[in-house]
Amino acid sequence: NQRSAFEEVRVVGLGGGKVPLGLKRRGLRVVVTGGAGFVGSHLVDRLMERGDSVIVVDNFFTGRKENVAHHFGKPNFELIRHDVVEPLLLEVDQIYHLACPASPVHYKFNPTNVVGTLNMLGLAKRVGARFLLTSTSEVYGDPLQHPQAETYWGNVNPIGVRSCYDEGKRTAETLAMDYHRGAKVEVRIARIFNTYGPRMCIDDGRVVSNFVAQALRKEPLTVYGDGKQTRSFQFVSDLVEGLMRLMDGEHVGPFNLGNPGEFTMLELAKVVQDTIDPGARIEFKDNTPDDPHKRKPDITKAKELLNWEPTVPLHKGLPLMVTDFRKRIFGDHH
Ligand code: NAD
Ligand code: UDP
Ligand code: UDP
Repeated sequence: NQRSAFEEVRVVGLGGGKVPLGLKRRGLRVVVTGGAGFVGSHLVDRLMERGDSVIVVDNFFTGRKENVAHHFGKPNFELIRHDVVEPLLLEVDQIYHLACPASPVHYKFNPTNVVGTLNMLGLAKRVGARFLLTSTSEVYGDPLQHPQAETYWGNVNPIGVRSCYDEGKRTAETLAMDYHRGAKVEVRIARIFNTYGPRMCIDDGRVVSNFVAQALRKEPLTVYGDGKQTRSFQFVSDLVEGLMRLMDGEHVGPFNLGNPGEFTMLELAKVVQDTIDPGARIEFKDNTPDDPHKRKPDITKAKELLNWEPTVPLHKGLPLMVTDFRKRIFGDHH
C-alpha cells in the first residue's frame, strides 16, 4: 500500500543511520511548489540529478512549462498544474515551497503567500514532511541596519504598495514557525536576496532582467530614481546549493542566502553595458514608492552553520544569463 511504501522511503532517505543493511538508498520524494519558475526549475534540475522523485506543483502564473520540459517522460518526474491557494493531497518527504508571484508587477493583491503557505504547512503536518520556505530579504523592508543580519526585525510599511509581498512573506515565516512549535513540523526558512540567472522571466520587471533584455534589444536601460540605491546580486546556482544545504541540514534558520557583493543600479548598468553593449544608453525614470535604499546580506550565519557561501561573482554570472536571454529573445540562430 502507498502509505507503507512512503514510510520506507522516508526511513531510507532521511535517517542515514536507520538504513537497514542491504537496502539500497532510494531517492526522496520531493515537492517543489513554483518548480516551473526561475529558481524552482534550477532546483528541480539538481534534485533530479541526485535521483530524487520530484513533483512540481505550479499554476504557471509566472513559470513556464519549457523550464522543466527536459524532464518530461522521466519516471521520477511529475508536473501538476495546481494553484496552492487550493488544498493539495500528496505523500512526500520534503516540500520546497517557492510558489509565489515574485515580482512587484505580479504580486499585488495575491493571497498565495498566506493561504498557499498555510496549505503546504498543513500538507507537511499531515504526512510528516520537512518544509522549506523561500522567504525574502524584503522582510527587512527599507532596512535601518546595514548589512542585514537575521537578527534584524526589519522596517516594513504595512499599508504600502509592496506590503502584500513583504508582509505576506513575514506572515509566511510566522506560520512556518507556529507549525514548527505547535505541530512539530520540521521547517527551514531561507531569506533570499536578489537572484538572477538563465530562465529568469524576461518581462517581469526586475532590474537585472530588464537591463539585460533592454541592452540586447538596443533599448535604453531604465534606471529608476537616481540609481544610487543598492542591491546585492546572487547567481542562481549559488542559491540552489544554499537551499539544498539548508533543507538537508539540521538548522531551522532563518538564513540569509545572498551574495554580499553590493552594487548601485548605476554600477549594475555599467556591468551590463560592459557585458553586452558599451554603447547602451541610460534613461532615468521615476522610482516606485517604498523602494528600499540599500540591501546587502550578512551571511555569517549561513557560512558558519551551513558551510555555504556564493562562488559566482556578477561579472561571471551575467554572461551565462545573457546567452540564455539572447536565445529566448532572438531565437537559436542569432
Ligand atoms: P518565479 O516567478 O520565476 O517563480 C515562482 C513560481 O511560482 C512560478 O513558476 C509561478 O508560476 C508559481 N506560482 C505563483 N503563484 C502560484 C500559485 N498560487 N500556485 C502555484 N504556483 C504558483 O520567481 P522566482 O524568482 O523563481 O522565485 C521563487 C521563490 O523565491 C519565490 O517564493 C520568491 O518570493 C523567492 N525569492 C526570489 C528572489 C529572486 O530574486 N528571484 C528573491 C527573494 C525571494
Ligand atoms: N491541507 C492540504 N493538504 C494536506 C493537509 C492540509 O492542502 O494534506 C490544507 C488544509 O486544507 C488546510 C491547511 O492545509 O486549509 C491547514 O491544514 P491544518 O490541518 O494545519 O489545519 P486545519 O485544517 O485543521 O485548520
Ligand atoms: N530598478 C531599476 N530599473 C528597472 C527595474 C528596477 O532601476 O528597470 C531598480 C528598482 O527601483 C530597485 C532595484 O532596481 O531599486 C531592484 O529592483 P527589483 O524589482 O529587481 O528588486 P527588489 O526591489 O525586489 O529588490
